[in-house]
Amino acid sequence: MSEKPELTGSSGSAGSSGESGAAGEKFQNPVAGFGVTFKAMFKKRLTEQYPETPKVTAPRFHGRHQLNRHPDGLEKCVGCELCAWACPADAIYVEGADNTEEERYSPGERYGRVYQINYARCILCGLCIEACPTRALTMTNEFELANTTRESLIYTKDELLAGLEEGMVDSPHAIFPGMDEQDYYRGLVTEAAPGTVPQPALSKGEQPKSDEPAGSTGAQQGRGAGA
Ligand code: SF4
Ligand code: SF4
Repeated sequence: MSEKPELTGSSGSAGSSGESGAAGEKFQNPVAGFGVTFKAMFKKRLTEQYPETPKVTAPRFHGRHQLNRHPDGLEKCVGCELCAWACPADAIYVEGADNTEEERYSPGERYGRVYQINYARCILCGLCIEACPTRALTMTNEFELANTTRESLIYTKDELLAGLEEGMVDSPHAIFPGMDEQDYYRGLVTEAAPGTVPQPALSKGEQPKSDEPAGSTGAQQGRGAGA
């Protein structure tokens, strides 16, 4: 039977130093804790007063999308669906349609008749705006998208279409006289032609006024021109 090793006095001294260390910690811990508090008291405050003070995002923050217009108010979207195909979350739904001279939404052959983005699915990755060949689709800095129903998270074309700026007339309206689609993309159209007025949206059931031929760029008709 083997003998147990004899305990030496060193263990006793370790015990007493352990006790004094524990006592030191007991004193130091609160002081160290208050040290953190005191340091924080003199640091710049990071608290944001949102929503009372609106949050300023980074300039390239990926927020809600926007469908852009040409400088005369016609729409840049050509209904090609490339954005929808690029979307990894299947959040975009597009239906294109043909423009006519009586009801023209974009300078070229086609336009986006139906355009929807489902923000219950969208992860704001920006792949759709990279895919858009006409820069019709971009992202704004708006991030307050939360809502209480799924339906309200599906944004329609009316909600996504950019507002009217100075020199624009709401679509549909006639193309700038003497210009073609390429001229629009070369930046040759800088505002609506004088006398341009909105055409009646025939596909939505609007009727032309009897005294004005559809597609006219003359006197005011139908809905008011945008400012
Ligand atoms: S930002 Fe991304 S997830 Fe959202 S619609 Fe565009 S491609 Fe889809
Ligand atoms: S937003 Fe751009 S990519 Fe999407 S349908 Fe319109 S033109 Fe095509």
